[in-house]
Amino acid sequence: MGNKKDTRVRRRQRVRKALIIASFVLFPVTFYYLSPILIIQGASEGIIVGSFIAFALMFLFSLVLGRAFCGWVCPAGGMQELCFKLRDKRAKGGRLDWIKYFIWVPWLGAIAAAAIRTGGFNGVDPLYQTYYGISIAGIQSLFVLAIVLLVIFILAMAFGRRAFCHYGCWMAPFVVMGRKAGNVFRWPSLRLAVDEEKCIDCKKCTKVCPMSLEVNAMVKAGQMENSECILCGMCVDNCPKEVISYVFGSKKRAAVSAGGV
Ligand code: SF4
Ligand code: SF4
Repeated sequence: MGNKKDTRVRRRQRVRKALIIASFVLFPVTFYYLSPILIIQGASEGIIVGSFIAFALMFLFSLVLGRAFCGWVCPAGGMQELCFKLRDKRAKGGRLDWIKYFIWVPWLGAIAAAAIRTGGFNGVDPLYQTYYGISIAGIQSLFVLAIVLLVIFILAMAFGRRAFCHYGCWMAPFVVMGRKAGNVFRWPSLRLAVDEEKCIDCKKCTKVCPMSLEVNAMVKAGQMENSECILCGMCVDNCPKEVISYVFGSKKRAAVSAGGV
């Protein structure tokens, strides 16, 4: 099975990297649909803007796909994975991962306050402030994009792999919440399953994890659920013993099955 399987998994990671880097290249087009500022501006005018819709969709998709958006589609993720070539240091997680929630909660409050002040939402404009759907169409918007990219870049250089995802991302909490809600209701979802008996403790999974998770320890504990896991599949596709696999099912199923792909 070796060669066929190797080709398939290599192809899967090639596809993932191509997708996430293409998303980064398209960031000048999609920037406003992920904007944390325009959503407040829209709310203050009673308008549901593109980023409101995008964040709502992220939450809904995460009910069945967990944080796959972060691992496969996010433009900021694509940029940070390119940064690995310059700085491939593991980022610290743990309590530091809470920083993003300290940003996220007041930001949600600001959106709600803006909407309440204006008497609620009374219109929808998915293309709000874009130029025929394109976000960056002038010097001012280009400048804002440059600042955002610079912040992401500095975080990656200073703190390591996908530091922005760990500490600063305003989108991550939506997908984390979606995943947790799905788990509470025991809805089937994309997950990692593990067959810990087969593990030879080589720690390759930990080494390749773009979120710097202690994957090897998760394998040993037989527990792959982690709110920082972006379901990128790097551990799945780099494990020499096929210990980790993707499955689609409930948390319980992932705990008893490693027969995925
Ligand atoms: S890469 Fe596979 S075999 Fe190696 S430590 Fe991780 S799970 Fe175990
Ligand atoms: S645990 Fe595996 S799937 Fe999750 S982020 Fe790390 S490498 Fe990706």
